[in-house]
Amino acid sequence: MTASRVLVLNSGSSSVKYQLLDMTDRSRLAAGLVERIGEETSRLVHTPQPGGEAQPREQLGPIADHGAALKAVAAELAADGLGLDSPELAAVGHRVVHGGTRFTQPTVIDDEVLAEIRSLVPLAPLHNPANVTGIEVARALRPDIPQVAVFDTAFHATMPESAARYAIDAETADRYAVRRYGFHGTSHAYVSRATAALLGKAPEDVNVIVLHLGNGASASAVRGGVCVDTSMGLTPLEGLVMGTRSGDLDPAVIFHLARVGGLSIDEIDTLLNKKSGLLGLCGDNDMREILRRAGEGDRAARVAFDTYVHRLKKYIGAYSAVLGRVDAVAFTAGVGENAAAVREAAVDGLAELGLALDLEANAVRSGEPRLISAEYARVAVAVVPTDEELEIAAQAYALVTQ
Ligand code: AMP
Repeated sequence: MTASRVLVLNSGSSSVKYQLLDMTDRSRLAAGLVERIGEETSRLVHTPQPGGEAQPREQLGPIADHGAALKAVAAELAADGLGLDSPELAAVGHRVVHGGTRFTQPTVIDDEVLAEIRSLVPLAPLHNPANVTGIEVARALRPDIPQVAVFDTAFHATMPESAARYAIDAETADRYAVRRYGFHGTSHAYVSRATAALLGKAPEDVNVIVLHLGNGASASAVRGGVCVDTSMGLTPLEGLVMGTRSGDLDPAVIFHLARVGGLSIDEIDTLLNKKSGLLGLCGDNDMREILRRAGEGDRAARVAFDTYVHRLKKYIGAYSAVLGRVDAVAFTAGVGENAAAVREAAVDGLAELGLALDLEANAVRSGEPRLISAEYARVAVAVVPTDEELEIAAQAYALVTQ
């Protein structure tokens, strides 16, 4: 019997999300989340056979650190006969946010790789330290099986220099590794391929604009399966209006807030990453709440919605120009998959670019990939649920079984 299970770990500063997949049929054996690690009120929610009959199990009470969290997860899995000590576990796949220019492919982690991921912390101070911790605890638990890092930046490594460069002094940029990297890469990779499949074509034969609209949000232009531009940059702050991030702004806003407003660099960092975007505009970062409030005539919610959609439209236009020919625009993630009103508003008025919706199809709620464009439209518009865990598992499994 060959080992076919992959555990996918997505470690945050105080949380761990996990899924156990069987790669023989790509089925999900278990999924869950540990949150508020290090607090008195830690919580583990474990779902056996997601999508099946079994009820999630919840465990409340202090979980001291990531090591204890993974042990608690291992105990939950063992209770379902899926212990992490099983010979059927082929690999652990770790989501690692920043791979810099060094990592452009999924990579088996050894001491050297781990040290290099650690050295990228200055580029992703909010994310890479937690990813490193997750790797360390999983390695301690199963030192005998491959731990694979799958990087959020990797899919975007193919961007041409003209898209990756900022137009600043080249020497300074190079010295400090300042360039555009892009994020959400596993999602953009998965969704661009799934969109090609929905059209019945090979990824090499289609040009796709992917709109990953979750709490974080990013757009990408994918030509023949290869990313040629994306909206996030050095960090996930650039680009679209997001739940709590501003996206694009004049960098001079920062100087102005520092010089005139007296804000510190850390205060501005927090302002732009955690208190801006939809939240900053109207006090809510959940699109459901914004749609409800806007529907009741709330002006701030309406402004937030319009600003969000305006930015989205600009990126659809920009990436249509970058690609020259667009075969499909794909909406994905929490907002993209669920908010028909956002999709309708983003595509509205873009008939000149070949985009038009079938409003009835757009209104249908479904967990399946589907087309929502009008029959006469030149460009297909699709809703394609993303699956970053499956993509991480598939990439890790392919690497360890090749
Ligand atoms: P994600 O980061 O992909 O999990 O997306 C989370 C976001 O999706 C939430 O903050 C909501 O704004 C949005 N969302 C989830 N469900 C819906 C829905 N039914 N309608 C509108 N927005 C939704």
